[in-house]
Amino acid sequence: MNILVINCGSSSLKFQLIDSGTENVTAKGLCERIGIEGSRIVYNKEGQAKITTETPMPTHKEAIALVLSSLTDAQNGVITSLKEIDAVGHRVVHGGEKFKSSTIINEEVLKAIEECNDLAPLHNPANLIGINACQELMPGTPMVAVFDTAFHQTMPEKAFIYGIPYKYYEKYKVRRYGFHGTSHSYVSHRAAEILGKPIEDLKIIVCHLGNGASVCAIEGGKSIDTSMGLTPLEGLIMGTRSGDIDPAIIDFIAQKENLDLQGVMNVLNKESGVLGISTFTSDFRDLEEGMKKGDPNALRAMEVFAYHLIKYVGSYIAALNGVDVIIFTAGLGENDSYIRQVVCDGLTCAGVKLDPVKNNVRGVEAIVTTDDSTVTAMVIPTNEEVMIARDTVKLVTK
Ligand code: ADP
Repeated sequence: MNILVINCGSSSLKFQLIDSGTENVTAKGLCERIGIEGSRIVYNKEGQAKITTETPMPTHKEAIALVLSSLTDAQNGVITSLKEIDAVGHRVVHGGEKFKSSTIINEEVLKAIEECNDLAPLHNPANLIGINACQELMPGTPMVAVFDTAFHQTMPEKAFIYGIPYKYYEKYKVRRYGFHGTSHSYVSHRAAEILGKPIEDLKIIVCHLGNGASVCAIEGGKSIDTSMGLTPLEGLIMGTRSGDIDPAIIDFIAQKENLDLQGVMNVLNKESGVLGISTFTSDFRDLEEGMKKGDPNALRAMEVFAYHLIKYVGSYIAALNGVDVIIFTAGLGENDSYIRQVVCDGLTCAGVKLDPVKNNVRGVEAIVTTDDSTVTAMVIPTNEEVMIARDTVKLVTK
């Protein structure tokens, strides 16, 4: 089957056309600056060079129309008609407590996703716009929603309840939800496959380290805790997000800097993390360059980031009462041997013994610990799109 996977952001749209039989990506790409001047589509047919076209995309509907015309283009397309797209899998960020797994999209589901807009005002409305635009342009094609939060719905209450009045959970569903679920699920299953062990027997900690970053504790294939919370702001220090802070800082900064609540939230989401600490970049490649030159700003940002990450992994070893596998994934986790080394070296007390030679890898599946290490640390490139395609096939062929 040909599955179109769509990931809509507020001003961007990523897509992949996946052949579910081989799991090959026949074409993929990205629409950027939707609704902003200078919008463009980058289209990449398997085995060919990327084609970038600047063209106006006032809304997501034009973006999806362009994706569909690129896929069916006589010269560079990969299908001859839209009928060859058997189903569409949509990434949806927030499924609240309603969605514990992926689901076929119908009117009722759309309404339920809309009801989660409050919980993810930056993400869910964009996801819905993408779904609506696809439905308009491809009527009759089955569509599936795959939620970032669904994998974490197995968390026990003790892990998802905050230390605030319980009535806020009852009235507004304020609780930990967690994100990156599709990624945490994919890499943990892949680890079990590579190790040839049933996932039911494994205690796994996944470090998903991209621009957004989260850690997840997985027991028997089920998420039992994760570092992101009601929103993706909680947990690890990230590219531009603060992660955990003393909540009293919000009021303190608001008063000192004469900011309103929204102003402070903007600082915490967009001006904090390693960008805020380093004062110059949210990109870990720049931080590594800076460290090589002995830049104290880069050193400080990397040190604080790594320290918090080690503490999180350590706390999840306690939550799981042990750990068999630690997985590094996403941009930084897959590519940055330095951060993997710092984290593993900080966890030698837990039986993690890094092999510096094996750790010298980038973007490929690998075990990076020594043969006699009690805990196996691995690099596993994430593949959220293939998970979305698999769930889509499963649901539409049911
Ligand atoms: P997201 O999907 O959250 O936008 P990615 O998983 O693509 O993020 O990760 C992006 C981050 O990964 C970048 O901010 C960058 O710091 C980091 N990264 C990517 N490649 C490398 C690399 N070769 N070395 C170090 N860090 C890298």
